[in-house]
Amino acid sequence: MRYTRILMITILLSSCFSPDSLQVDYLAESEVIKFSNTIEEALPQTVIFEKVENFIKSSGDKKKKVLVVGWDGVRLDAMLTAKTKNLDSIATDAYVLYTGGDKDNLQYTSSGPGWATILTGEWADVNGIVNNGIERKNSGVPSFLKAVKSIDSNLKIGSAVNWAPINLNILGDELELLEFHSEGVSDDKTADKAVEFIRSGVDVLFVQLDNPDAFGHGGGFTPFCPSYVGSISVADRRLGRMLDAVYASAAKNDEDWLVLVTTDHGGYGKNHGGHSYAERTVWLVSNKKL
Ligand SMILES: [Zn+2]
Repeated sequence: MRYTRILMITILLSSCFSPDSLQVDYLAESEVIKFSNTIEEALPQTVIFEKVENFIKSSGDKKKKVLVVGWDGVRLDAMLTAKTKNLDSIATDAYVLYTGGDKDNLQYTSSGPGWATILTGEWADVNGIVNNGIERKNSGVPSFLKAVKSIDSNLKIGSAVNWAPINLNILGDELELLEFHSEGVSDDKTADKAVEFIRSGVDVLFVQLDNPDAFGHGGGFTPFCPSYVGSISVADRRLGRMLDAVYASAAKNDEDWLVLVTTDHGGYGKNHGGHSYAERTVWLVSNKKL
């Protein structure tokens, strides 16, 4: 018994040190999440901003609402390996994206620049968040939360994040515009807050869950690392709680929700920040055709 356990632990630990490079075959083999493009055709991470803005501007009888959920540091092949029944359930459309800036304008594949790019639709040279330091983004560059409020000042906006610098530093001065915000509490409590905000009538909500990144740094950002892959499944269960709140609100109030799920960067070995495919390749899953 004891021998078996030691053997199991050895297998689990050693499996985290399997190949670090992105397992590109996983994309073509994915049976549930079908991508509309290939890794070679990856779109810049900046597109998320316009997807949110365009949806809010689009016409329709029902009230438009948006939930953007970010799972920190979830590499594409690991996401496709993890059991993610809630993500699968909304995967009407999916795109391979890239982070880390453009060829002649690279930025670190780190959380600060990644989330700032997702929120503002601009790379670091424009939004000002070039690393994970404590600076604020350039005030003339709005996040999609501020942008939708300029379209309709009645919209209620919110941000629930485990990694507090997203709210305190990246959104920074914008925080006073938000009807709902929460930062610096565990992923579980962040999901609770997101559910509370949805039930309270938020119209456009950004959520960041941090744990997958921590497990990636701990064991390796690869689909061969069970603790990392398992943490993605836990993030998926938290997404499920938010989706339940979205469906309840939509049914009760006749709302039309766009739900987007994404990540800020991938990883190579136990780190990220550089410009390998494994770090640069990210993804976007949507409940609507984009
Ligand atoms: Zn990150």
